[in-house]
Amino acid sequence: MQKQTIFISGSSRGIGRATALQLAREGYDIVLHGRAPSEALSQTLEDVKVLGVNVRALTFDVTDREETQQKLLDDIEENGMYWGIVVNAGITDDVTFAGMTPESWDRVLRTNLDSFYSVVQPLVMPMVKTRRGGRIVAVSSISGVMGNRGQVNYSAAKAGLIGAVKALALELASRKITVNAVAPGLIETDMIEDFVLEHALPLIPMKRMGTADDVAHAIAFLVSDKASYITRTVLEIDGGLHG
Ligand code: NDP
Repeated sequence: MQKQTIFISGSSRGIGRATALQLAREGYDIVLHGRAPSEALSQTLEDVKVLGVNVRALTFDVTDREETQQKLLDDIEENGMYWGIVVNAGITDDVTFAGMTPESWDRVLRTNLDSFYSVVQPLVMPMVKTRRGGRIVAVSSISGVMGNRGQVNYSAAKAGLIGAVKALALELASRKITVNAVAPGLIETDMIEDFVLEHALPLIPMKRMGTADDVAHAIAFLVSDKASYITRTVLEIDGGLHG
């Protein structure tokens, strides 16, 4: 079988890192990504390498559309097209809407939503042209499904991702390319601040935060051959929070 390569945006840390490690354990070659070179990215590169697969790392700011597209196109020209793309890089900038600055709105929308266009659009035709099918998974959030106070910007961006996934899935279904979203609830990573935890934990039926591995397993399933008939869905990984 031809080895399959997966690109994961924002895989220096957190959910992206856990996804890269899980996919490497399952034998995929990995293209890591971070905003800029960092210790975390180098460490993840080393940790994936130990698992015996091919791995390389790209760095670019996903809010810089030109740079994002150029780096990705250069990479696939040199190394070939990916089997799967995981659009994971994201940020929060929580504040009630009344106090939300235009910068906060723009930064969150650009990082979480516009990056879907910048990362996926240049790769769509190359993926179609492989004639092997493929996988696209966007990391949305339960905030995009339910809305969350203090996160009007983030909820809008993550809901937008779900719309993008549902529309693109229709365009690519006949090409055997599946397009899905995962919607994690509260996951233990750098992104979560203590006050969020205090407020949200009592609302989670399973009474615990999720782990990055909980999300990584779901993404790995959607990327796998086992999920070849699953497209245009949103898989919630939230301990029952939304239901
Ligand atoms: P982390 O903060 O742990 O990691 C964020 C990752 O995104 C890092 O790799 C970071 O790179 C990268 N990144 C952020 N901004 C940019 C940018 N402008 N350009 C390039 N890379 C960028 O986050 P999580 O692992 O918690 O989150 C991953 C995804 O999961 C996000 O989309 C988030 O919204 C989503 N999510 C998280 C939940 C949670 O509870 N943690 C819940 C629901 C969804 P670098 O290290 O170089 O900065």
